[in-house]
Amino acid sequence: MGEYNIEVVRSRRARRISLRVTPAGEVRLTIPWWQSKAAALRWAEGRREWIESALERVRHRREQHPPRSEEQIEALRKVAKVKLPAMLDAASRRTGLRYGKVTVRKTHSRWGSCTREGNISLSLFLAALPDELIEFVCIHELCHTVHHNHSAEFHALVNKHTGGMEKELQKRLKTYLPR
Ligand SMILES: [Zn+2]
Repeated sequence: MGEYNIEVVRSRRARRISLRVTPAGEVRLTIPWWQSKAAALRWAEGRREWIESALERVRHRREQHPPRSEEQIEALRKVAKVKLPAMLDAASRRTGLRYGKVTVRKTHSRWGSCTREGNISLSLFLAALPDELIEFVCIHELCHTVHHNHSAEFHALVNKHTGGMEKELQKRLKTYLPR
């Protein structure tokens, strides 16, 4: 499929090298603070096939979900501002996981995020997804109020609150793009 750039991000928290292709089609290599950049890039070179097929999937998804116009985005924002906080609240009551504030933003890079203080931000593009995926993202972010990472304990909690469906829902979520 040709060439791609690898963005190397040095992280204080990372314990090992990790590789990710973002929904925007960027290849991101996160490395521990002590890791040599050259060695990390050699490591990534050994994963060229994986990177290329991940980029191919992203390209396919982008074709299936062309960007919305400004007008469409504003219409979706109106729906999102009502629907998303209501669904987050319902998920919070159902799971017993409490959060601080909720904000709805025009975020293209992720569906949601959660701060250390337990404030949750949701992408307005989430409002265009099927309800069960909206609920899934709400549960994912609510579980971050307990575990501020993607540890095994975190995933076990998400899995518990999704009736053992985390992997399946994650797979479905990956077929959409926040745009
Ligand atoms: Zn997360």
